This record gives sequence, structure tokens and C-alpha cells, in this order.
Amino acid sequence: MSGQSLNAAVADAAARLGRAGIEDCRAEARLLVCEAVGIDRSVLLGHGERPLDRAAAERLHTMLEARCRRLPMAQVIGRRGFWEHDFAVTADTLTPRPETELLVEAALARADGARALRLLDLGTGTGCLLLSLLDAWPHAWGLGIDRSAAALAVAAENMDRLGLRARCALVQANWCDPLGGDFDVVVSNPPYIPAAEIDGLAPEVSEHEPRLALDGGVDGLDPYRLLFPRLATLLAPGGIALFEHGAGQGAALAELSRALGIVVLARLHDLAGHDRCIVLGAPHGDSL
Ligand code: GLN
Repeated sequence: MSGQSLNAAVADAAARLGRAGIEDCRAEARLLVCEAVGIDRSVLLGHGERPLDRAAAERLHTMLEARCRRLPMAQVIGRRGFWEHDFAVTADTLTPRPETELLVEAALARADGARALRLLDLGTGTGCLLLSLLDAWPHAWGLGIDRSAAALAVAAENMDRLGLRARCALVQANWCDPLGGDFDVVVSNPPYIPAAEIDGLAPEVSEHEPRLALDGGVDGLDPYRLLFPRLATLLAPGGIALFEHGAGQGAALAELSRALGIVVLARLHDLAGHDRCIVLGAPHGDSL
């Protein structure tokens, strides 16, 4: 309601979010009020007695309604912070997740950014992986592939915001079907949730995130079965590939790699302690 104080608006919003089953309702209410008014959290905390004007009240109302329908917060406010930047997010893109930052960290640690690296991101979505790496490697060139034209439009927006157009190409394709090789670094956060488990996830995910970005087939491993055999042609000599995967899937992926003659360079765990990333070398190649 306009006219009420920011603090009162936070209290009302928190109550409404709580009734919608949202756990962290107080923090989310603060975030939405800040977003509606266009202020930082510190301003809200210091000046909570200020009135909420009419336009902000309307914005807050619209966002609250969306969040109570369990749209992910990133879709409600239209962005999510990942690594060093904010990325535009829509219903056509997977929300960038903190565990995916592990791939950025591992790629930065393992590849030589002083070189003109050629980078490939399979299933780029918002482009968060590709663009974070290109931003960190000023000499690198990158290609992002996605099957969804709508997701690629979001990636393009993010690319332009970060000023990376000159070093980045975005192509609509089914995985790496049209591609030849010679990439120094391949990254991918493919869909890896077993199909039957998706409906049991939080409504933010099961009802509002793109199924194309989630569904990994019966056991979640279909994309890896398709992509790993292609690494022999995709990777330049000494190239590396980093794949995110679901908790508990690492051992099966290591086995799949070995069966294909692919070198497993590392298996990494996320901050929650789950196996989350496998780092592979070109078949019988050396790491960078
Ligand atoms: N590469 C994007 C990410 O890591 C999208 C991944 C996906 O859609 N499965 O967030």
C-alpha cells in the first residue's frame, strides 16, 4: 500500500510471502522492497520510516504476486549475481547457481589466460559460464551454443552488457552437432536431473525453470553420454573440458570417461561437499 512506511511494507510483504510457503520470507521481503523503491539494503535499514510512494507500491505488488506464485526470485527481479557480474535471467534460462561458480574457478586455475584461448560453452543459457570466463581472460574468444533461441537472446543481452560482443559468438544448435574442433577449454553445465525427479523439486524449479535446462533423461546422464565421445574432436591438443554434474554422479562419469580413453584430470566438490564437477583432458593428451 502506498503511504505506509518501508518498514511496514517489509512486514506486510514478509507475511504474504510466508503464507505462500516461502521460507526466507523476511529477507526476500526486504529485497523486494529495495528493488521496488530502487535503494540498497543499507538505505532500507537506515531509513525504514520513509514512505513508500505509489509507483514503488505498484512495482512491489506486481513482484510479490509473481513471487507468491513461486516464480524464482531471479525471474521476479530479472537478474542473478554470478561470479563477478549480474546476469539477466528469464523464464527461458536456468538461474545461475552458486555451485556453478566452481567451474569458473577451476577453469581459471587450470588454463593459461595469457594465451588466446578458444572457449566453448555447451548449453550456455544466460551465458554465465562463457561470459564470466571471457571477462576474466581478455585474450580469449568464445562460442556459446544453446538449443533455445529465447535463451540465446538472454545470453546476447548479457554479452552486450559486459561488452564482450567482439570476442563472443552465440549459435543455436543441438549441442555440438555442427562443430569441429580445436577448443582449448570446453565448459558445460548440462541438464542432469533424472526426469522422474523433476516434479518432486521445489515449485520454483519444477514449474518455472526451463525443462530443457533440467531434464537429463532417465538417470540424468544422457547429455554426458552424448558429449563425452565428441571431446576427442572438440578439444585441441592439451585442451581441457569441465562439466558440472549432479551430486553422486561423478563416479559414473569418471567410468564413462575412462571407457572412452578420456583422461580424468580432477573431480571437484562444491561448498556443500557434493561432487559437482569433473575435469577432463583430451583423450591421451596433456593438461594445459
Ligand atoms: N550454462 C548455464 C548455467 O550454467 C545454463 C545451464 C543449463 O541451462 N543447464 O547456468
